[in-house]
Amino acid sequence: MKVVFVVGAGPAGLYASQKIARAGYSVIILNRDIKPGGLAEYGIYPAKEKMKGGLRKQFAKILELPQVSYFGHLPVGQGYALHLDELRELDPAALVFAVGAQGTKKLGLPGEEARGVYSAKNFVYHYNRLPPFSTQDYSTGKRVAIVGMGNVAVDIARWLLEDDPEHKAEEVTIVARRGPFEAKFDEKEFAHVEQHLDRRSFQDELERVKDRIAAVGEDIAKVPETTFPILARPYTEPVKPRLRFRFLCSPKEIVPSADGRIAKLVVTENLLVARDGGTAAKATDQTDTLDFDTMIFAIGDTADPNVGLPFAKDSYVTNPDTTTGEHAAYEVFDSATGKVMTGTFVVGWARKASEGLVGVARFDAEKGATHILQYLEGAADRQTATPTEIAKRIERGGRQLVDKAGLECLGRAEAAQAQALGLPSFKFAEDAKMLAAIAEEKRANTPVPADD
Ligand SMILES: Cc1cc2nc3c(=O)[nH]c(=O)nc-3n(C[C@H](O)[C@H](O)[C@H](O)COP(=O)(O)OP(=O)(O)OC[C@H]3O[C@@H](n4cnc5c(N)ncnc54)[C@H](O)[C@@H]3O)c2cc1C
Repeated sequence: MKVVFVVGAGPAGLYASQKIARAGYSVIILNRDIKPGGLAEYGIYPAKEKMKGGLRKQFAKILELPQVSYFGHLPVGQGYALHLDELRELDPAALVFAVGAQGTKKLGLPGEEARGVYSAKNFVYHYNRLPPFSTQDYSTGKRVAIVGMGNVAVDIARWLLEDDPEHKAEEVTIVARRGPFEAKFDEKEFAHVEQHLDRRSFQDELERVKDRIAAVGEDIAKVPETTFPILARPYTEPVKPRLRFRFLCSPKEIVPSADGRIAKLVVTENLLVARDGGTAAKATDQTDTLDFDTMIFAIGDTADPNVGLPFAKDSYVTNPDTTTGEHAAYEVFDSATGKVMTGTFVVGWARKASEGLVGVARFDAEKGATHILQYLEGAADRQTATPTEIAKRIERGGRQLVDKAGLECLGRAEAAQAQALGLPSFKFAEDAKMLAAIAEEKRANTPVPADD
């Protein structure tokens, strides 16, 4: 039977695996994290338990399929545990990369390396307890800037304003390069934080940018009926900590204090100009200096160049020859040789970084899987390594893998911890603890041989 390797067990990898397995092929999933789910497990806001629980159930069903094998705790790529050439030596019929968008867009600012400056993805991984981010320093201070105006920025504001157990933030400011009409978050997400909005300062901010946004025909009087409906409701005092907005400015420089932590953010004031039927920010030479002790940039991510697939700018390279139809958009293309990497595909956020919700990643992965199935029909049979051979080979190198049985053990161990601590749920925040819990659970469930 033809065997497909799917690298990554986020929504894209799992839904693609389901489609490929249901068509009668074997699938071996290789996942960086011990647990499956990707950002559905470690990105979606912790309080969205119902959504996360529903997705976990669907993912568990996919993993139950007998044609699907799983190895967690196995990062694949040039700088990682299993290199691409080693992966190819295992001789899969097709290789599907569903590794998400693990690269970080650098702002390229002076001072960017200061302490207290984080990428949104890493910060979100931290509060969602993904190792190793879970135990790294993502300390926040009293005055936090979040750069970006999408749902991820709002999730982070929600964490800092509502749920951060340390309750350190006194003021959270969303810094946006464009204006109030270009807010990209959903109304229902903003509803979680709107009680913190400092409406007086917001009104001042609208006045401050009024003339600049009028240049593209935008009128601040319409803000309440469009992006900030809270402004149409009767005034109530904002709940502390306060949420503020700073429109039409882009980070220019981070100024650290003597202890190396961000102390100030220099921003460039922008104009708003019409471009391609929408609007764009245009930098002026005017700057302002704002006091912040933490800055989190939520401006989207890129594909991870360290995986080792052909990479250009922010993403893996796919076949530019679209005359073959949309199939090309899923095939990896080696620009160095000018040839398609036959049988190698990308799906989900690995194909289009930071694009859309789980439903979009699923749609993309299932569409990609249709093309993969077409390819498999004509592909030659191979002597692909079996799951047992793969496990032996990797574990010989000293790396402990987690298979489907291991995941079940982990589930039981975490449920037992939750019960012991009187919590609704519990997540180990370190790989070593997860591996130890799995080993312990396996030991406890291994029958002791009877004495002769
Ligand atoms: C902060 C945040 C909040 C979100 N909230 C919502 C929400 O509320 N609702 C919603 O519908 N969507 C939400 N999304 C979007 C949703 O999470 C994504 O659409 C979806 O997870 C993308 O799926 P993916 O499988 O392409 O990538 P990912 O979910 O990122 O999965 C990638 C997988 O690949 C693995 N991997 C990475 N690198 C390697 C490697 N080198 N080798 C092996 N494995 C690797 C990872 O371990 C992971 O399992 C949110 C996203 C973010 C960032």
